[in-house]
Amino acid sequence: MRRTKIVATLGPASSSSAVLERMIEAGVDVVRINFSHGTREEHIAYVEQIRSLARSVGRTVGVLADLQGPKIRIGKFDQGKISLKTGSEFILDAECELGNQERVGLDYRELPNDVEAGATLLLDDGRIVLTVNKVNGSEIHCQVVQGGILSNNKGINRKGGGLSAPALTAKDLLDIKTAAVLKADYLAVSFPRSGEDIRMARALMQEAQGHSLLMAKIERSEAILALDDILDASDAIMVARGDLAVEVGDAAVPALQKRMIRSARATNKLVVTATQMMESMIFSPIPTRAEVSDVANAVLDGTDAVMLSAESAAGQYPVESVEAMARVCLEAEKEYTVNLDFRRPPDSLPESIEEAIARATMYTAAGLKIRAIAALTQSGVTARFMSRRSSKVPIFALSPQEDTLGKMTLFRGVYPIEFGQGLCDPELILDMAEQELLKRGAVREGDLIVMTIGEPVGKAGGTNTLKIVRVGDQKLSSQPGKETA
Ligand code: PGA
Ligand code: MN
Repeated sequence: MRRTKIVATLGPASSSSAVLERMIEAGVDVVRINFSHGTREEHIAYVEQIRSLARSVGRTVGVLADLQGPKIRIGKFDQGKISLKTGSEFILDAECELGNQERVGLDYRELPNDVEAGATLLLDDGRIVLTVNKVNGSEIHCQVVQGGILSNNKGINRKGGGLSAPALTAKDLLDIKTAAVLKADYLAVSFPRSGEDIRMARALMQEAQGHSLLMAKIERSEAILALDDILDASDAIMVARGDLAVEVGDAAVPALQKRMIRSARATNKLVVTATQMMESMIFSPIPTRAEVSDVANAVLDGTDAVMLSAESAAGQYPVESVEAMARVCLEAEKEYTVNLDFRRPPDSLPESIEEAIARATMYTAAGLKIRAIAALTQSGVTARFMSRRSSKVPIFALSPQEDTLGKMTLFRGVYPIEFGQGLCDPELILDMAEQELLKRGAVREGDLIVMTIGEPVGKAGGTNTLKIVRVGDQKLSSQPGKETA
């Protein structure tokens, strides 16, 4: 069983239910709805389609709603695009309506206030490089350091960061309401600068009566400096390598990825590794060796999930991309030896009863020959604590709560199972949970399992009991005729 989760971005390549169904069967755990494209109605229809397909194959598929954020872009050209010559001069002009060979407009009108002579601007994910000669009112006069074809609405990043655009735009405020209506399991905030941006998004989500967990996309230089604050304010982070590489330089990203994954796990947060993971599969049915290594290395770093972007949204091989990722994750997990677990510094003692139970469970599972863990959970918090520990023992998280099941789709090593609706007798629940694992072929008679539960039953965040059970030994009068050998 694969522990690392797969997030797939939806788009034109994955809009038919035939393709979606094959993607789910190939192992997609979470779908990403990209608010940079499409309408509210389309997003709602998409999510309904996904959830009904998932239900029909008996799985839970999580939903990640990704806000567009303040992508800073140039305007349009009269001819759609121009060819910029290296060494020539070019003007970014906040007042220009329609661009030409000499100048182009700016969607982000504040840019002239945010740059000064000497600054480096990277356009189209760094394919075009400009240095600023001078700023004159609305005009930024630049020298073209690296030329090329520049077309309408390409993004602009400033090397080293420092653009003042707030993380939440007017469009994002509306999209947060849509995410709440969609009951998105996760809300991703693009280009946050600090924890404050995440706290603001969380307040808006609460105002919209939504319950999405908050994911901070780390894609600005400032966000690296503010990582601790951002982690503190978030439930999850995304290593958003596309924009991050432009701001900090591509060579700095691999080490930052490792640092971010380590920090997220150490603070009990979730982490997704994203962008260009299987990039060549947009046009090719098989990944490159480098892409295989990239996905495998993210798994070895300890990421919760790996993500497909254009590969699944706009590529020619969306299903094959999922299959390739699944295959690479499974193989890499055989070697997974990150073992931070029981030799952590004493400052990371458990801070809650649930965390103490979760750690005791993983400690037990690492010592005894435990076949499976069954976490009976209302809020999913105990399962999340368990999943912060590296282990090869599967964590079945059984919950009657639909929204909890959706959130747990992202947790590494955790398999959400709908279970226990209306049950309140803990003895009966534990016995039925055991039957559920038997029925699924996850355990056999005689196997040892660890079960966790909160008593009294039904209270969120109340896990306080750990029980080690030999399958078949729990006997209840409700199971007449069933005898242990
Ligand atoms: P995006 O974010 O795909 O929304 O740009 C991810 C990234 O920048 O890597
Ligand atoms: Mn981005």
